[in-house]
Amino acid sequence: MDKAASILDTAYATIMPRLPLNFNIREGYGLLELGLELKLAGRKDMLNFIRALPMTAQELLDEYFESDVVKAAIASVGIHGFTLGPMGAGTGYTLIHNWMNRGGLANVNVGKAGEITQALANAVKSFGGEIRTEAEVKSIKVESQIAKGVILANGEEILANQILSSADPKHTLLKLVGAQDLPPEFVWHTQSIKMRGSVAKIHLQTNGNHGIPEGTVVLAPSIKYLERAYDAAKYGEISEKPYLEVTTSGNVVSIHFQSAPYALRNSEWKVESAKVAELAIKTLEEYFPALHASRITHHIITPIDLEQTYGLTEGDLNHGQLMLDQFLFMRPIPGWSNHKTPIDNLYLCGSGVHGGGGVSGAAGRNAVKALK
Ligand SMILES: Cc1cc2nc3c(=O)[nH]c(=O)nc-3n(C[C@H](O)[C@H](O)[C@H](O)COP(=O)(O)OP(=O)(O)OC[C@H]3O[C@@H](n4cnc5c(N)ncnc54)[C@H](O)[C@@H]3O)c2cc1C
Repeated sequence: MDKAASILDTAYATIMPRLPLNFNIREGYGLLELGLELKLAGRKDMLNFIRALPMTAQELLDEYFESDVVKAAIASVGIHGFTLGPMGAGTGYTLIHNWMNRGGLANVNVGKAGEITQALANAVKSFGGEIRTEAEVKSIKVESQIAKGVILANGEEILANQILSSADPKHTLLKLVGAQDLPPEFVWHTQSIKMRGSVAKIHLQTNGNHGIPEGTVVLAPSIKYLERAYDAAKYGEISEKPYLEVTTSGNVVSIHFQSAPYALRNSEWKVESAKVAELAIKTLEEYFPALHASRITHHIITPIDLEQTYGLTEGDLNHGQLMLDQFLFMRPIPGWSNHKTPIDNLYLCGSGVHGGGGVSGAAGRNAVKALK
């Protein structure tokens, strides 16, 4: 897995050519570098990697393990954050992707994330840059297919020569730019990006005596359990027996709940959110009974909240599902994998483009390299 993750990491660090269009010398050079890295990886690892991508996580794990418990624990990494079950084609790829972003089987809290963002913020300021938060962009100002600046919700206009958006591609292009300024075929492709959020998050404030061990705990007793937890999402329903991933930080217990689809077929989120929070907590209490008495309060974030508060279209954590037809030179859409858009001076640098999703920084790094 580590070798496969390292190959994927190298691919993510390479700006993809705009296939099926011809690619320029800079893109060709990047691909040459990637080719060399892959050659160095060796034929056996390369073959294992390519073979694993379209496989189901279940098939892949069947080749190595006998215990269903072990298989399910590992397979849960492959479906975490995706609207997929471990019996679905392509979960071999998503398993490698999440393995890469987590540095292995479980999230390891090394406590440095704040330091990294602080260092980045300091770097911006040292170059004379200004960082503004609570500044919602209502639209991107476009004149003659050239991005000129942004207009904030309060009406303020900020002009710029280059604009990078880390909002998801659908949000950026269809809402902030608008279909009227884009070629029809491009609009059609952008509308077709598959966004399928099906995760809810529940944060619990406890008195600390919750009994849950430190680190990452997954409720994933078998491959079939995980597949059924996903089945519900296919029919627009909330899993009655969800896959949970639990992390603790002092008195706070955070539960990742799957599947909780954005588009509910027979209900709506304002009715379901309290029920989902209760279901998550009750399910966890079956395994950690001490949690019950230690509860103080809780807060749920539904896929609708992810869309309305964080701008994630359809609550998709990765700004677009990671699937084999939406990765490498097909992310965000075929022909536009080099971070550029049909609008001059407007670039995409977030999770929905090649290098994303996840908290790796790869998409942003590639986007900066792609700037004119
Ligand atoms: C519940 C949950 C669990 C996750 N688990 C994992 C995990 O285990 N491992 C992992 O690697 N990744 C995980 N992810 C995914 C990861 O968080 C994202 O891939 C990553 O944050 C994307 O980074 P980004 O900078 O591209 O976009 P974002 O972090 O989404 O940042 C985009 C920013 O743009 C802002 N924005 C959007 N629209 C506008 C606008 N119009 N005006 C102004 N600002 C705007 C948003 O508020 C947001 O701050 C998880 C995400 C969620 C929600």
